[in-house]
Amino acid sequence: MSAILNQLRQRAGRIPTDAEETRAVQLKELQEDHAAYTAKMELGDRLMAQQAKATEAFHLNRPDAVKATDKQVGFIHALLAKLEGTTVYATAKPWCDAAIAAGITKDRASDVITRLKGYVANAPVVTTPPRAFDAYDDIPDGYYAVSNNDGDASFYRVRRHNGRLFIDLQVSDSFNRIPWVTRKAALDKIRHDTPQAAGERYARELGRCYRCGRTLTDETSRELGIGPTCRNK
Ligand SMILES: [Zn+2]
Repeated sequence: MSAILNQLRQRAGRIPTDAEETRAVQLKELQEDHAAYTAKMELGDRLMAQQAKATEAFHLNRPDAVKATDKQVGFIHALLAKLEGTTVYATAKPWCDAAIAAGITKDRASDVITRLKGYVANAPVVTTPPRAFDAYDDIPDGYYAVSNNDGDASFYRVRRHNGRLFIDLQVSDSFNRIPWVTRKAALDKIRHDTPQAAGERYARELGRCYRCGRTLTDETSRELGIGPTCRNK
């Protein structure tokens, strides 16, 4: 551990605090854990491929063994393609690849096809690849007004910092954090009204620039909802 602490000392150019030392040690341990598990998972994949290979070699050496036809192999690939994106695919694909590479027999290929057909029949329909997180990239940083449930306008500030999106509710001149469900609902409303319209509404109702939130002092800016500096960006 002293190597990490020396590194930390050198990088900071001073003696690190106890908290910094503890964090550096914890981080190092987590990195080691991650590397160890990654290695185990890779070993698992290799073992599975070897198991498939050994199984097929055994069947291929039976006296009555007949090799699978190209048509069967093509069918296996077609069925696998239908399973893409499902959990079974992650294990079925490397297993089938290894078995085919080892030289799968005709009856074994037939078994694999039956099993894959069963998976396909029971697999959930994958229409679009799942989106992990909606980044609301269509909503630029700025200020927006949308209708709330009382029929009044609610005012929001959207900004991004270190790749994270923040949306705060503006009440008078303060910006308040709101729960995630409310944040998501507000972003969806801005999207629904379109960011442009919601921005212009903010400017109209508060007389402030929808991009930077500063007071709009000249008539043209008030009309456009955006100040001269932000217009020229
Ligand atoms: Zn502005």
